Amino acid sequence: MEIRYFDNNATSAVAPEVLEAMLPYLSDFYGNPSSMYAFAARAADGIDQARSRVAALLGANPEEIIFTSCGSESDNTAIFSALQAQPDKRHLITTRVEHSAILNTAQYWERQGCRVTYLNVDDRGRLDQEQYLQALGDDTALVSIMFANNEVGNIYPIQRMAEAARERGVLFHTDAVQAVGKTPIDLSHMPVDMLSLSGHKIHAPKGIGVLYVRRGVRFRPFLRGGHQERGRRAGTENVPYIVGLGKAAQLATEHLQEERIAVARLRDRLEQGIMAGVPDCIVNGDTENRLPNTSNISFKNVEGEAILLMLDRLGICASSGSACTSGSLEPSHVLRAMGVPFNYAHGSVRLSLSRYTTEEDVDYVTEHLPDVIKTLRAISPYKD
Ligand SMILES: *Cc1c(COP(=O)(O)O)cnc(C)c1O
Repeated sequence: MEIRYFDNNATSAVAPEVLEAMLPYLSDFYGNPSSMYAFAARAADGIDQARSRVAALLGANPEEIIFTSCGSESDNTAIFSALQAQPDKRHLITTRVEHSAILNTAQYWERQGCRVTYLNVDDRGRLDQEQYLQALGDDTALVSIMFANNEVGNIYPIQRMAEAARERGVLFHTDAVQAVGKTPIDLSHMPVDMLSLSGHKIHAPKGIGVLYVRRGVRFRPFLRGGHQERGRRAGTENVPYIVGLGKAAQLATEHLQEERIAVARLRDRLEQGIMAGVPDCIVNGDTENRLPNTSNISFKNVEGEAILLMLDRLGICASSGSACTSGSLEPSHVLRAMGVPFNYAHGSVRLSLSRYTTEEDVDYVTEHLPDVIKTLRAISPYKD
C-alpha cells in the first residue's frame, strides 16, 4: 500500500540531494576535522560550507552557528546557558504551548528554585501580550518563545516580542524548529539572541540540530570537553549529518518562497475538502497567521486515536498532537491551553504537509476521511 505521509511536523523525509551530499562523508572523507593533515581538512571544509549555508538561511554569521545533536539539545542549552551566565537572574518566561523540550526543561529549573512565567493563549492559540509585557522584569534571565507551534501551526509575533525583551535588557530565545524552512526568518533584522532548529524537520536526518547564538551574547556550554564549535559544544563533529543539514538549509533558502505558496495551496485544498465532506468539525489555531503546511482539525464526538488507527489502515500517516503526547488519552496540552471544548479536543488530528506532498495525496485523504468519521460516530458513546 502506498504511504500518504501527513506527519511532517513529527519528522520529514530526507531529501535525495541531502543524502547525496552526505554519502562521501560517510565513506571517503572520514578524517577527524580537528586533525592537522590535508585529508582531515576535507571534513573540516564540509563543516565550514554547511555552517555558511545554515547562516545564510537565517541571516546570521557563520560563527554564530553551533551544531548540536538535535532541537532538544539546542533548547536545553539555551536555557542552561542563560541561567548559568546570569546567576543573579532566576526568572524565565515561556508559554503554555511550547514543545516538551522547553516545557520539561523549564519545569526542571523550577524545581531548582527558578520562577517561571507560562504565558497563556486565547481560544485561537494567540499569546497574551499584556501578560508578557508585565512579566518582563529585572530578574528575568531569559524569554523562550517558539517561533511557530508544532501542533496548530500558529506563528508567533517574535519580532515584536524580541524587541520588548531587548528594550528591557532581557535575553530572548526562540525554538524555531517548526518555523525554519517554512516561513522566512531574518536574524539580521530581528533582536533574537538564540534560536534552535532541528535537521529532521527540514529534510535532513534525525540527530542533528543547531543553536544560533548571537555574537556578543554571554554563553555557557552545556557539553564540556574538547574545543569543537569554538569551545561552545564539545564532541567530535557529526560531519556527515552536519553536511546534510547544510544541504537541507541551502535547499530551504533556494525554494522557500515558491514552496510555501505551493504547500499552503495544498493545505487549503485539504482543509476545504475535509470541511465540505464532514459535518461538525473545526480548524484549530490562528488561521490568519499559521505555518503553510499545518492543519489541526477537531472532529466532534470521536476519539482522535481511533481516527489515526483507521487512517493508518488506509496508509495515511497523521498525528493527534505531538508524538510525545500521543499514546495517552489526554488531549494535547496545546489544545487544553486553548480551551478547545472537551467533545472536540478528543477528536483532534494534525495533518502536516511538505514539499513532497502531492495533490493526489490530498485528494486521497479528502475522499476517505468522511467515511472514517461517519463510521466512528456511528459507534461513538458520545452523543449530544
Ligand atoms: C521536533 C521539535 C523539537 C525537538 O527537536 P528534536 O530534534 O526532535 O530534538 C523541539 N521543538 C519543536 C517545536 C519541535 O517541533
